[in-house]
Amino acid sequence: MIKAITKCRFCGEPLQHLFADLGVQPFCETYLGVDEQNKMEPFYSLRVYFCDNCLLVQLEESMSPKELFTNYAYFSSHSKGWLKHVESYAEMITAKLNLNEKSQVVEIGSNDGYLLQYFAQRDIPVTGVEPASNVAKEAQRRGIPTIIKFFDKELSDELISQSKQADLLIGNNILAQVPDLNGFVEGVKNLLKPTGVITMEFHHLMKLIDNNQFDTISHERFSYLSFTVIEKIFAFHGLTIFDIEEIPTHGGSLRIYARHTEDNSKPITSNVLELRNKEKDDGLDKAEKYSSFSQIVKKTKRAILTYLIELKNNNKSIVGYGAHAEANTLLNYCGIRSDFLDYTVDRNSYKQGKFLAGTRIPIFHPDKIKESKPDYVFVLPWSIKGEIMDQLSYIAEWDGKFIVPIPEVTVYNSNGTQISCEAFSLGGK
Ligand SMILES: [Zn+2]
Repeated sequence: MIKAITKCRFCGEPLQHLFADLGVQPFCETYLGVDEQNKMEPFYSLRVYFCDNCLLVQLEESMSPKELFTNYAYFSSHSKGWLKHVESYAEMITAKLNLNEKSQVVEIGSNDGYLLQYFAQRDIPVTGVEPASNVAKEAQRRGIPTIIKFFDKELSDELISQSKQADLLIGNNILAQVPDLNGFVEGVKNLLKPTGVITMEFHHLMKLIDNNQFDTISHERFSYLSFTVIEKIFAFHGLTIFDIEEIPTHGGSLRIYARHTEDNSKPITSNVLELRNKEKDDGLDKAEKYSSFSQIVKKTKRAILTYLIELKNNNKSIVGYGAHAEANTLLNYCGIRSDFLDYTVDRNSYKQGKFLAGTRIPIFHPDKIKESKPDYVFVLPWSIKGEIMDQLSYIAEWDGKFIVPIPEVTVYNSNGTQISCEAFSLGGK
C-alpha cells in the first residue's frame, strides 16, 4: 500500500498511485573522476506517480531544482543531430509566422544558444532564459542575450517591462523539467503577445509507455506528458493548442502550437482532434493504462538480466555503448555493474576516463572496442541504435553482436540484422 506523499503539481489532489519505481539512484548527469572511486555518493529515490484526478504522471520530489540545474554537463550545440533538427525548425517557423527584425523571439531553457543563433542570424531579436550559468555564459559569449534565471510569472513581468513580450515563445524539453507547472504556464500566458504563438516540444508519454522507455525517467524530469493532459493544463491557464506535430526526436516527441484562447485568428487544425482520439484509443484517458506500467518495467528488468546472466554463464564478454543519462538510469535500476559490462564507451571526451555514477563502470573512447574485441556490445542509446550499429559494423571481424535492451531485449548481427529468438538462446552450446 503506497501512502499519499505529495500533491499533484497541476490539480493539487493527493498522489497515491504508482506509475514506476526505479529504486534509489544517483543523479544521472554525474560522472566520477578516478580519485572519486572510493567516495560515497548521494542516492535519491526515483519514483513516479500518476494523479487519478487529472492523470498527470509526475515525479515524487526528492531533489531541489537548484541542485539539479545550476550547472549542466549537457551543451545542446554538441549534438549535431539536434542542431539540424532546430535549424530546420527555425527556418520553418520564421516563414510560417513571418518573423522579422520587429519581432521578438523568447526561448525558455535556451541552453548555449543552440537554437536562438538561427533567429539571430536572420536579424530577428532574441532573448534566452537559462538557469544553468555555465551553458548560459556560453550563449552570452556567442552574442545571444541570455538571462540567467528560472522562468516564472515574476520573470515574465520583468521581460514585459523591458518590451520583450513574445511573438514566438519557445520551450524545448523544458515543460517536463518545471517543478511549478502552473506558475510556469501562467508566466508563458503573460509573456505572449495577443497574437503570439507558443511552440513547445516534449517527449510523448504515449511513446514512453508503449515503447517501454522507462530509462527516460530521471530526477530532472518532474512531469511526463500526454497531449490530453497538457491540453487540459494549457486550457486552465487560457491557452489553446491549435496545432500539433508528432516528431521522432528522443524516441517520439510532440511539438505543440498554442495561442491565447481569445485569439481566434488561428483555427484549430484536424491534427489536434486526431491526436486526442489516438491517445484515447491507446487508453491514456484511463487509470489502468498508468497503473499497469510498473509491472512492465519490472518484467523488462528481469528479461535484460536473464539474458545477460545467460551470456556470462557462457563466458561471453560484454561491453556497453553510451554513458548518457538514460544509460545511468537503466544500469542503476537493473543493477548492471562491471560484473556484466567490462566498460562502456562514449564519444563525449568530457566523460572518457571517468566512471558512471552508482554503477562505477569505467568510460572509454569508442576505439577501446576495436582493441578488446568483446563478444557483445550492449547499446544503451536505443533511439539512435541504427547509427551506432553502422559506426561499429567492424565488430564483424570477430563475429561480435549487438544487444539493444529497449523496448525489449533484442540481439542483432554486426550488420544490423535482427537475430531470431531461437538463434540467440544459448542453451546446449
Ligand atoms: Zn492532478
